[in-house]
Parts: sequence; C-alpha cells; structure tokens
Amino acid sequence: TSHPGQDHKVTPMMEQYIEIKTANPDCLLFYRMGDFYELFFEDAEQASRALGIMLTKRGKHQGEDIPMCGVPVERADDYLQRLIAKGFRVAVCEQIEDPAEAKKRGGKSVVKRDVVRLVTPGTLTEDALLDPRRSNRLIALSRVPTGEDTARIGIATVDISTGAFIVEETSPSNLATDIARLDPAEIVVPEAMLDDELLEAIIRGARVPIAPVARDITDGATAERRLTEAFGVTTSAGFGQLSRAELAAGATAVSYIVRTQRGARPPLSPPKQTGRDDVLHIDGATRASLELTRTLGGDRAGSLLHAIDRTVTPAGGRLLADRLASPLTRPGSITQRLDSVSLLVEDARLRRDLRALLKATPDLVRAAQRLAFRRGGPRDLACVRDALIAGRDVSTVLAGRDLPAELGAIRESLGAPDPKILAALGDALAETLPLRTSDGGFVRSGYDPDLDAARELRDESRKVIAQLQTRYADETGQRTLRVKHTNFLGFFVEVPAPTGEILRTPPWNATFVHRQTLQGAMRFSTVELSDLEQRIAAAGDRALAIESAIFERLSQIVIEAGDPLKDLSDALAALDVASALAELAADRSYVRPEVDLSLDFTIEGGRHPVVEQALNGAPFIANGCDLTPSASAENGRICMITGPNMGGKSTYLRQNALIAILAQIGSFVPASSARIGVVDRLFSRVGAADDLARGRSTFMVEMVETAAILNQAGERSLVILDEIGRGTSTFDGLSIASATVEHLHNSNGCRALFATHFHELTELSKRLPRLFNATMRVAEWKGDVVLLHEVVPGVADRSYGIQVAKLAGLPASVVERAKTVLAELESADRTGKRGKPVSDLPLFSIAAAAPPPSAPEPESDPSLDALDGIDPDDLTPRAALEALYRLKALR
Ligand code: ADP
Repeated sequence: TSHPGQDHKVTPMMEQYIEIKTANPDCLLFYRMGDFYELFFEDAEQASRALGIMLTKRGKHQGEDIPMCGVPVERADDYLQRLIAKGFRVAVCEQIEDPAEAKKRGGKSVVKRDVVRLVTPGTLTEDALLDPRRSNRLIALSRVPTGEDTARIGIATVDISTGAFIVEETSPSNLATDIARLDPAEIVVPEAMLDDELLEAIIRGARVPIAPVARDITDGATAERRLTEAFGVTTSAGFGQLSRAELAAGATAVSYIVRTQRGARPPLSPPKQTGRDDVLHIDGATRASLELTRTLGGDRAGSLLHAIDRTVTPAGGRLLADRLASPLTRPGSITQRLDSVSLLVEDARLRRDLRALLKATPDLVRAAQRLAFRRGGPRDLACVRDALIAGRDVSTVLAGRDLPAELGAIRESLGAPDPKILAALGDALAETLPLRTSDGGFVRSGYDPDLDAARELRDESRKVIAQLQTRYADETGQRTLRVKHTNFLGFFVEVPAPTGEILRTPPWNATFVHRQTLQGAMRFSTVELSDLEQRIAAAGDRALAIESAIFERLSQIVIEAGDPLKDLSDALAALDVASALAELAADRSYVRPEVDLSLDFTIEGGRHPVVEQALNGAPFIANGCDLTPSASAENGRICMITGPNMGGKSTYLRQNALIAILAQIGSFVPASSARIGVVDRLFSRVGAADDLARGRSTFMVEMVETAAILNQAGERSLVILDEIGRGTSTFDGLSIASATVEHLHNSNGCRALFATHFHELTELSKRLPRLFNATMRVAEWKGDVVLLHEVVPGVADRSYGIQVAKLAGLPASVVERAKTVLAELESADRTGKRGKPVSDLPLFSIAAAAPPPSAPEPESDPSLDALDGIDPDDLTPRAALEALYRLKALR
C-alpha cells in the first residue's frame, strides 16, 4: 500500500534543512537533532568517507533515499577537528528554541533552527580544536591595481584564538615568501584575485584551505566602514596610516570572521602594521629544505624548532615558532633579545626560578579570548586567575633587579592588569571546576549569601528525600521501597511488582499514586515527593541563575581588562622564550653571536643544532666558516665544497644557515664564536630533490628555484646551494653549476656556500677572486676511507665513491671489480687515450685562451669508449653492476 505521491512531499523538517543548506553551500551542515548532529545528502557522503562513520538513510526526498550520517553532540569536537584538519568548513546548526515552543504552535511545526557558527580551519577558538603550541592564523588577501599590470597585495593576518591582527603590504613576486612565513591555516581570497593565473598558482601552491569570497572590497571607503563597524569606532584613524591594500585586506578578513562567527563582534586587537623590512625573508622552499618547523617528511621531531624548543608554556611555544618564522634584521632589536638571554644564561638560579613559575602558567590569552567570544567556561576564568598569580609571582622574582631593556619592559607589562581582577576571581571560584557554566557548582561557598541559601535549600531537600524513603518504608513495612529520580518522572517511589500490588490497594492508594508498571517493578508518585521536587528544582534553578550571573560579571571583568591581560600574556610568553633560549644555550654550550651591519660571516667551531643532538653522544665535529669579505674584496665570499658522499657537506652547508637564523631570532648559537653581518634574504636549495607531489620534473624545479635565487639575491643575502645541476647530463649540469657560481659571484655579490661533486668546478677559484675551495677531510686506512667530517681548505683529491660504496655495503666482488675499472680509467686518462679531459673544456680554462692544440686522434677501442660514458660518481650500485656486465660483453 505505497503512495508514491507521498514520497514527493517534502517534510517540513527537510524543507527547513534545505533552506539552511542553500544558505551555506560551501560548508558541511551539522544539523542538530536531539543528541546528534546529522548530515544529509552529499554532506553525509563526504563526512562518512572523511570520518569513517556509517552512512545510513533517513526518509525519502523526491522518491530517492536520503543518505544520512550523524555524530553525537558530546563528541562533536573530535569529529570537527578531523573534518577541519581535512580542510572542510562546517556550519553548526542548532535548535534555537525550546522544542516545547514548537509543540505549542501545533500541527507540523518544526523547532526553529539556525546556523550559530561556521567552523573553519582559520577561525577556531576551542582548546580541543587547537594545537596549543601553534598559532592558528587566517590570512585575507587583497589586490589593488597600481598600473597597467602592476598591483599591490594586501595581507591581513588574524589569529582569533588570541585576537592578534596584523596587516601588511607586499608585491605579487614576494607573495609566496610571505605566505610561507605566515604559515596560515586558511586563506580568504576574493574570487577576482583567483582569476589572475599567476596569483592563483601562488595561492594554491601554498596548499592551504582556501575560502574564496565573492566580494572584493577594494574601494577604500567601504573597506574603512567595514573595519570601523567591526571595531565599533567611528574612524580608522586610530589604526594608523593603513594603505588601501591593507585596508582592503583587513576589511576582507573582518567580514569573513563576522560571517563565520555569525555577527558576533570579533574581539580582536585593532589592525597593526608590521615592519616588513625588519624581517629576514625566507621563501617556502628554503624553509622546507632547512626543516625549520617540520622535516621534509612533515614531522615536528627532527626540525630546528623541535631541537631548540625548551619553552614551558603554550604561548611561549607559539612565540618561539613565530620568531623562528620571522627572524629580525635590525642589529638593535636582535641585541635587545640577546641581552635578555645573556642575563638568564649567567644567572642560572634566576632562570630556574622563572621557569618553575612559568611551568604552572596556563594559556591566558586563548582563555580570555574564549570568554570574549562568549564561548568560555569556569575553567577559562581559572586560567585567567592562575596566569595572574603567575604574573604576580614572576614580578616578585624580578623586582628590584637591574634588567636589560627587553626584560625591563616585560616586568612592566606583568603589572598591567588591575590587581582587583585577581581578587575578584580568587574570591569567587571554587576549588574544583566543572567544564560548563550550566553544570553549576563553580562558585565557592561563602561567596554569595543568596547562592548559599539556595544551595542549602536544595541540599536540605535532598536530605528530606532520604528521610522520606525511610519513613515510607517504615509506614508500609516494605523494606524494598526506594525513592528514585528520572528526568521524565521526577522523584518517585519504586517497589517490586508484588509490593506494588499492595500499594495499589487501600489504605496505601490514598498516598501512593500509580504511575508506571515495569517488568518486575512499579512506580508511584506522592504529593510530598512532588512538592519536594518543585522546591529542589526551584532552589537548583535559583542557584544556577545566581552562578550564571556571577559568571557573567566575572567574564565582563576579564573582557574589559582585555588589553592589559594580553600584555601580561605577551610578557609571560616573551619571558618563557628568553629563559628557554638561555636554558638551551646553557644546556648545549651555545655562545652569544655578534650581529652587526657588516657583511661579515665568521663562525668558529660551528655545529649543526639538530644533527648534533641526533648523534646521541657521538662527537659532532665542529667546523668554522669564514665568508667575511677579504681585504681585496668588498663583498662576502663564496665557499665551494667538494668531498665524498656522506662526508658531511650538506650538514655543513645547513648548519651555517641555521646559525644565521638562530642569531637573528636573538638566540645563542652552536659555535665557539660567531660574527654575522645581518642577512636580509636566505636561500637554500638542494639539487634534484624529488618533488613528485607537484608533478614537476625535478630538474625543472631545481632550475626554477635556482632562477629565483639568481634574480633575487643581493649582497646581504646568504645562499646555500647543495649539488645544483645534478638532475641532468654531466656536461649540462656542470655548465649550469658553473654559470650559476659565476653569476652569484659577479652579479649577486652575495655570501654563499656551494657543495658539488663536480670537481672541475674548483678550477673556478683561480679566476673568481671571492671564491675559495674547501673540502671534507678523509683519511685512508688499509685501502678504506674514514670520513672525518672536517672541513679543510682545498680540493678533494679523489671522490672516494668506491670506498663510500663499500661502506654502504656494496658486495665485495663489485667493489673489487669497480676498483679495477677505475684504475684502467685513470691510466687511460693519464696516457691521453680518453679523449679530452673535462678540465680542458673552454668553460674551465683559466684564461679564455685559444683552443688547446688538437691531440692526435686516439685509436678507437669500444670498451674504452664505453668507459668514457661512465661517471662513477653518478652511478647507483645497480647501474654500476649493469655497466660492468656491458663492459665485459664488449671484450
Ligand atoms: P654529504 O652531504 O657530504 O653526503 P651529509 O652532510 O649528509 O653528507 O652527512 C652524512 C652524515 O654524516 C650525517 O647524517 C651525519 O650523521 C654525519 N655527519 C655529518 N657532518 C658531521 C659532523 N660534522 N660531525 C659528525 N658527524 C657528521
């Protein structure tokens, strides 16, 4: 008896669902149904796949089953986190009226629902959804044309979990580097900008969830209005002199946040401009190759940040990560930070005391921000209280000391919040606190007489209930009689079924009113119980109402103290970073670097901060590096390093870049001494690194990136190139590597380190005055090599490829045969049978001299010709073996 017509009727609930879904097309819709959020149609399919939860169906729509899945409300955070991590946005749709109201309206009326919030990767505030040690930034972009095909790009960066709001301006060519530095969780971008192919490639290339917005707020007046509205001020004059691009980006960010937070005025700091020229530019490829915050494999362990992070608070951890992302370029600011670290290195006792106090400090700024978003609970108030206590105690420790500028300013900020806030919170809050305000019980007894009275009544009544049970049992003589409670029935008497039959007969049925018969049990209500019930409920409600009011009042105090609390939080974080860097320096014997405006780069006894720790006690061989301009040259020098594989070239290259970064964030460095003229741009590239994920040929990637360096590096830059030119044939690679070095030397004039297995390149030092050679020292012992990891001046005399292959476990027979082949090759080379030696190519002749006299045409020998085509340095073990078989076949 099916009625096909019925299937096509849309239920009122579905009608509501579709309306809300249509208004939020780019989000998964979490639709509240009782204790579940339910998802329908395609949302359900996507979510069930992403979360690995069951896909079922619920009813029909236009004759088709409606796919559905659901997540329990109490575990929603967990699911949200996983969806957000996968780049989804979620619209959370709640019931916004009591279901009883809908019932009153009668008929088919559904409960009113609306989206209360969009949860997106860049707009999180919940502790459960955030990584405590990582900033969670949203960036919004704008483009303001300045000419035919030039434009300024505005970037607004907001972390709504802390309220930080920064605007800056950049150019399309620097955008990728800026995005890499900001490391956003989400990028908000006007659709019009994505129409520009170049910009789209840059923005999508960041591989961060993108939120395209339809409106492009480039008009200055509109942008200004958006911003002033959001901050509830009448003019943007208080924001400083923002450029049009900055205003536009700021307005786009604010509009997006208002949209996701459903109109709540976001509690943000007013937009601040960054001093962009004050930070060391490090592009995305360099950050990745130096493994600053995560390894190439994506792990935190093994990164520089992981190796140096000794912070003990979440905010300190975030600040250190932020500083590592943006090292400074002004010697003055760097010196200030170093002064703080120095003091705390020298005063071990002070450092220990501070760190002990900081350890107990909660995440003040995020808790305060949640309260400001009206998403906080009693525990957030306790966070604020405990942070205030920490601030007070730290103040006491620092009091009366002679402090360098940065620490002095920190001490100043510690006292920013009014002591009355701590007093208010300390007086009010109970010992143990519930998660939610609605759970009640977070206000200390004795704090509010009305609250105490209500609680007493409530608890007194509970006692009366217990007495009542005893009395009923005595009166009826039924020892099994119990008073119980459910939400549906309230308080009731429960007895086994046979006893129930007795209570249903006179005289007992005058007192006990039958309510329910269950299997083996009966339930009754009584007038006394109902009265008590009402008194308890009323007292409980009253207690809760009083507590809510107290919570409101305390929240308001915290919200009003927003700025001083932020200052306190920043001060504690900065102190944590300074003492953590001091701890690191003391623990690992780092030294204070000298940083100035010269072009010097002189490091003695330098070590790799990560490899050193990974060696697990095995000694790390320290190596100096001197790129300081020599008396004859104004610019810094270029070091060309050769040496066997596994000799330590890459480690050496990177350690010098990392030491520069550490120095410029104001940290001590792993060396016995270091003098560094500030670096303004840092480039690091590793040749032929696989980049299959992006589907570009490795050689192409290498060349694109090398081009970027050659176009951008200046005399203040530091360039690290590791095995550039490996991804193509030997002669091509050699030529490209050679021309690259010449360009760095003659045009860029930068300081550079260049590792290569092309020994021929070392000849370049004869005609490039700022270039010098260095090599990794190797000792030979009974025909084996020992890699000493020591950098010495000069050129590797041999490549030791075969010996290193032996160390790697190549079968002995292959090693022996390779040695024989090599000996033949070398003797052929000496007797001139082997065609032109590479170093005689015009490219490497010292003066561009006349072509070398033509050698007598050698006799042709097929096996020797074949040998000519083999470069032992370039062979995989397998290719070597194949080559040997081929050679044997030729005989
Ligand atoms: P290359 O780039 O020359 O092939 P790497 O820099 O990758 O060599 O170094 C190979 C390994 O040698 C490293 O993983 C590290 O364990 C070790 N090593 C490198 N430099 C040093 C050093 N200075 N002291 C001790 N061990 C080192």
